Amino acid sequence: MARSSLRPRFESWGRYPVLHADLWPLNWGGDFPLRNGPATRLLPVGAGRSYGDVCLLENGTLLPTRGPGISGGMDRFISFNVESGVLRCEAGVTLAEILDFAVPRGFFLPVTPGTKYVTVGGAIANDIHGKNHHVAGTFGRHVPCFELVRSDGARILCSPEHNAEWYSATIGGMGLTGLITWAEVRLRPIVSRKIQYTGIKFNGIEEFIALSQASTQIEYTVAWIDCVSTGKNFARGIYMQGDHSPDPAPLIPSKTPWLVFPIDLPELALNRHSIGIFNTLYYNKQLSKRTTGFVDYEPFFYPLDKVLRWNRMYGKSGLLQFQNVLPHEGGREGMTEILKAITASGLASFLAVIKVFGDVSSPGMMSFPAPGITLALDFPIRAEISFELLERLACITLEHGGRMYPAKDARMTAAQFQAFYPQWKDFSRFIDPAFDSAFWQRVTK
Ligand SMILES: Cc1cc2nc3c(=O)[nH]c(=O)nc-3n(C[C@H](O)[C@H](O)[C@H](O)COP(=O)(O)OP(=O)(O)OC[C@H]3O[C@@H](n4cnc5c(N)ncnc54)[C@H](O)[C@@H]3O)c2cc1C
Repeated sequence: MARSSLRPRFESWGRYPVLHADLWPLNWGGDFPLRNGPATRLLPVGAGRSYGDVCLLENGTLLPTRGPGISGGMDRFISFNVESGVLRCEAGVTLAEILDFAVPRGFFLPVTPGTKYVTVGGAIANDIHGKNHHVAGTFGRHVPCFELVRSDGARILCSPEHNAEWYSATIGGMGLTGLITWAEVRLRPIVSRKIQYTGIKFNGIEEFIALSQASTQIEYTVAWIDCVSTGKNFARGIYMQGDHSPDPAPLIPSKTPWLVFPIDLPELALNRHSIGIFNTLYYNKQLSKRTTGFVDYEPFFYPLDKVLRWNRMYGKSGLLQFQNVLPHEGGREGMTEILKAITASGLASFLAVIKVFGDVSSPGMMSFPAPGITLALDFPIRAEISFELLERLACITLEHGGRMYPAKDARMTAAQFQAFYPQWKDFSRFIDPAFDSAFWQRVTK
């Protein structure tokens, strides 16, 4: 059945760049390939929770499986095997919906990012990682199979055993190899919503690395790091560890958040001064060097999800994310150089996290994670200053043999991307001829 296409703006989470495209919402796996559809370039999208342009396509047609302004979408559960924990669902199902279904049944996500409002399709296409990367690897490792539909109508069942090349190209393939219609995800058992939590204050990268080396048996580890303070407070932070509680407790569903960030703040509201105050308060909210206790999984994994649309804090110009990984060798010097470049720039980030990735291999040909230290932060967009800083951070990353994360990027150059991902040409063989993205154009054309 032919449908009218809409023309609302589809924003990524960073709200930059602003690009215009038609929307052609998909409600069923059979809706694609499009019949009587537009003859333009296409890109599937999920919840638009990527920060930059990996989910954007100027003057093309986006194929949302979920998202604002779309009722329904590809949001159905298909089957659940309580013995194996394998859930089969459509690609537009969000991780929040999986948790609502799975937690009361004693199951949890195998890997989760810092927001639960992403779709299964988006999680596969960016091969996302979480606080348990050092033990569980990426999301794709927990996806036994999925269906990929190409614009010529071919339906490819992908798994490590069947069409393994397509499986590997599509995990981390940034939506370019075709539309994922459904996927299986292997969930893990839990007996409680609680996380056994420890928070440890640290001072400097050396101490952060020592804590990471001593925590490899702990399932979830990540640190918040202060990217504003200098002098004796340079690179101070809080190292956060957690394990699922082994003590059985009621597995009740989460409450729906009701707080919505109401307005776009004025551009200058988030500045070095206000973020410096926030960082000092945040660092000092924990009084002792070490604190332990039980916390609910919601604030542990998703502190930012409590306020919907929090990206409006950055104003209408939006924000830039940066996430890189540097190999262990030279990583601590590289990260110190990066933190110094940030403090020297006069820009500030208050959502800065640092983590050591493990050496569990990623299944995707283009997956971002690699063994080493990863840093993720965001900056308000301020004329040329933030672009210059990002350019500097990308150069330091390159000099230290690291790479940057496409899901969080809006600025890396073609030369940088091709040096970070030398396998990109081989990957290009798998791109659907009708598919394209603003990111791919920027880094390859
Ligand atoms: C607050 C916050 C915290 C985050 N924390 C983390 C983190 O800890 N770790 C991490 O790895 N990432 C993190 N992210 C990034 C986020 O997890 C990824 O960008 C994720 O891919 C977004 O999923 P989405 O459903 O919104 O997809 P979109 O952003 O809409 O799309 C992402 C990519 O998936 C493709 N795609 C979407 N659906 C399909 C489909 N059905 N078939 C084929 N391709 C498809 C799109 O073409 C695009 O290339 C975070 C993002 C936010 C906003």
